[in-house]
Amino acid sequence: MSKVHNFSAGPGILPIDVLKQASEACLNFDNMNLSLLEISHRSKNYVAVMDEARALIKELFEVGDEYEVMYLGGGASTQFAMVPYNLLTETGYAAYVNTGVWSSKAIKEAKIIGNTKVIASSEDKKFNYIPKGYEVPNDADYLHITSNNTIYGTQMKSFPKCSVPLVCDMSSDLFSRKVNAKDFALIYAGAQKNIGPAGSTMVMVKKDILGKTGRKMLSMLDYQVHIKGESMYNTPPVFPVYVTMLTLRWLKQHGGISWIEEINQKKADLLYGEIDRNSMFYGTAAKEDRSFMNVCFLLHKPELEPEFDKFWNSLGISGIRGHRDVGGYRASIYNAMPIESVQVLVDAMKEFEKKFA
Ligand SMILES: *Cc1c(COP(=O)(O)O)cnc(C)c1O
Repeated sequence: MSKVHNFSAGPGILPIDVLKQASEACLNFDNMNLSLLEISHRSKNYVAVMDEARALIKELFEVGDEYEVMYLGGGASTQFAMVPYNLLTETGYAAYVNTGVWSSKAIKEAKIIGNTKVIASSEDKKFNYIPKGYEVPNDADYLHITSNNTIYGTQMKSFPKCSVPLVCDMSSDLFSRKVNAKDFALIYAGAQKNIGPAGSTMVMVKKDILGKTGRKMLSMLDYQVHIKGESMYNTPPVFPVYVTMLTLRWLKQHGGISWIEEINQKKADLLYGEIDRNSMFYGTAAKEDRSFMNVCFLLHKPELEPEFDKFWNSLGISGIRGHRDVGGYRASIYNAMPIESVQVLVDAMKEFEKKFA
């Protein structure tokens, strides 16, 4: 069976070994002769899965017990609301950097909970760059940023220095590169871009920033409730957490973040190199802010799109159609994407140039 080269932006590609183990667990989990889908989340075997899934996050981030890890339902989009609900005080305000659709949605939710201030934005240029040189207030309850903008293919190469708690939506580049996790007070990510299937959202938070809003909290939206329940306050997304655990284990066993970062760098260099060389295509993101996960590019002659689409489809390439806001093409080259697949796309672009330039 020849596998399709899957450049999907999300839910994204997972390692084949992980898919195989996940399939097996659907039929016979841990040699229990029971499916993982039909056992109690409180069974010893499943509690071990949740414990490992939580521990692997702290291990890969190299942080200690001042942080807690949760796996929650509701997607990263629920975190847009939970973050202000748990951190934004009645009299204070939250600072946001607006770098795209996801940041904008986060701002929209925060505004419902309390006061917000957008301290920088790249909306003026259709979010094709990362704002720089802005001043970070030292009296905000927190600063919220989005490390990688999945739709526009931009990525923060460094993070703002600030004295207030730094909150980051890392949905689309979590564990793709080394970051100093201790600089962040809260990191969240929908699993389905880079660390697992859809259905679970990872939240890692520094305990000492919680419990300060004075708000009377709804249980399901209260981080402290989920921390106390070790992500089992209610039935967790059992299967997505299991597959996420397998993916994190895969990452660790192969050499961790430094291993994957080197590969991701090579993949990005290969693809951007071709975009810059090839006379048919151009990149949409500012060069210094180019994402190593989502590579956006357009044809100089958009009228050739149907031809190009036919061509890459015939080569077993899948999922490179751009987001409707940007158009053109977006190749998502998440951790599980092998460099060989990127080479197939690059070769297709070369071939296409020969035919149509
Ligand atoms: C996909 C994505 C989201 C939304 O995630 P859901 O799990 O669908 O709610 C939020 N932020 C970023 C950066 C994303 O890429």
